[in-house]
Amino acid sequence: MNQADSLKLAAGLEQLGWQSVKKDESANLFVINTCSVRQHAEDRAYSQLGRLRKQKLSGEELHIAVMGCMVGPKTAQLAKRFPYVDAWARPQEFEPILTLAETIKDPSEGDLGSLSVLLDGGLTRTYALPTGISAFVPVVHGCNKFCTYCIVPLRRGRERSRPVADVLDEINWLADRGIREVTLLGQTVEAYGHDLSERPTLATLFRAIEKIEGIVRVRFLTSYPKDMTNEIIDSVADCRKVCEHFNIPVQSGSNSMLERMRRGYMVEEFVERVERIRLKMPDAAIATDIIVGCPGETDDEFRETLSLLRQIRFDTIHVAAYSPRPGTFADRNMIDDVPSKIKKQRLHLVEKIHQESSLNINQKLLNREIEILVESVTETQATGRTKHGTIVHFNTNGEVKIGNLENIVITQTTAWSLKGHIADNLSLSVV
Ligand code: SAM
Ligand code: SF4
Repeated sequence: MNQADSLKLAAGLEQLGWQSVKKDESANLFVINTCSVRQHAEDRAYSQLGRLRKQKLSGEELHIAVMGCMVGPKTAQLAKRFPYVDAWARPQEFEPILTLAETIKDPSEGDLGSLSVLLDGGLTRTYALPTGISAFVPVVHGCNKFCTYCIVPLRRGRERSRPVADVLDEINWLADRGIREVTLLGQTVEAYGHDLSERPTLATLFRAIEKIEGIVRVRFLTSYPKDMTNEIIDSVADCRKVCEHFNIPVQSGSNSMLERMRRGYMVEEFVERVERIRLKMPDAAIATDIIVGCPGETDDEFRETLSLLRQIRFDTIHVAAYSPRPGTFADRNMIDDVPSKIKKQRLHLVEKIHQESSLNINQKLLNREIEILVESVTETQATGRTKHGTIVHFNTNGEVKIGNLENIVITQTTAWSLKGHIADNLSLSVV
């Protein structure tokens, strides 16, 4: 979501005459797009700010803007703490940065452009073209779920779906410019459409994107078990371009922990959704997120998480140690009582299971032929991804192009990637 926001702001700034630079030293406007989901992410933003502060104090002509989730509704406190920051912008609210950009004069060229033209045109219709062949397309902003540990609804607000026509317009625009794969984004992406008068669903989008020429793959994240209807699961199975790759955070394998997290479902309901997916798509890839060390998490509760992970055999597990987030229900009402040493131990145990299950899943692909979308090519090597999102490296002699779909026979596997060669025409059984 942050990458999509950054690109969108960049598109707006480019319209004002700004250019992005590779080397920090030659920039005169810095925009730090922040994440607040864990303390570690905020700390990284603070250290960037410290570095820029030094540069600014040493007399360099530079301007600093901070956007994203670190910027809450009240910026007065932040402005007091970081007086050298020139603009603050909440997620999706780019105007303060564009206003700043308009006031900055390029020392060599004078005025950089007219902001009013851009704003009258409507920044929301400014689509951003990423480098490469894949694009992130936010379809629903915000979140209504209010899990007790999570800061996202406090910073990104309530769910707001983009109209179907708007989403399709952007994807057509991207396809016309060579984009081959789109990832539809939402904090709970299956919530898409419930706030629109026509009540479209994620499946409505899938079916419409099937018809867009040029787009060969559609991904979607992040799923929320309660919003994941049969209609949506079935549409993934039915739509050729939609990847059978689900990202469904379970967060914990213990019902008592899930209740304290206010996740709104029980482990049994989560398992039932996974069973439905596997019934329709036996080979589907399933990824999940786990938080270890949430307030009050006991050894037994954690053991239940390990046993769920072993039972489901996820393709990917994103694991994080609980980090108290100011203003959340957990921060106000619960004690962060799991020692950081225990959190680290639990984190490593989850990572170990992840590595084992991922290796096991990848090994089953040995000698099979898999369709991959090529993402990068050198003179001798190319890299792409399977529909399941696994990276595949293979040798080429220059005949392969970025954006091609190629059938690759897998000859080597590790937990994190695959190696292979281009299949000859006689190969069978494409996965
Ligand atoms: N909406 C998704 C869901 O339902 O889980 C996830 C979105 S959340 C922004 C991304 C991930 O950050 C979560 O899955 C969770 O694992 C992690 N996360 C959120 N709050 C956290 C916290 N306070 N401490 C540690 N990890 C956290
Ligand atoms: Fe945060 Fe996801 Fe829960 Fe929303 S559903 S509050 S984004 S963890």
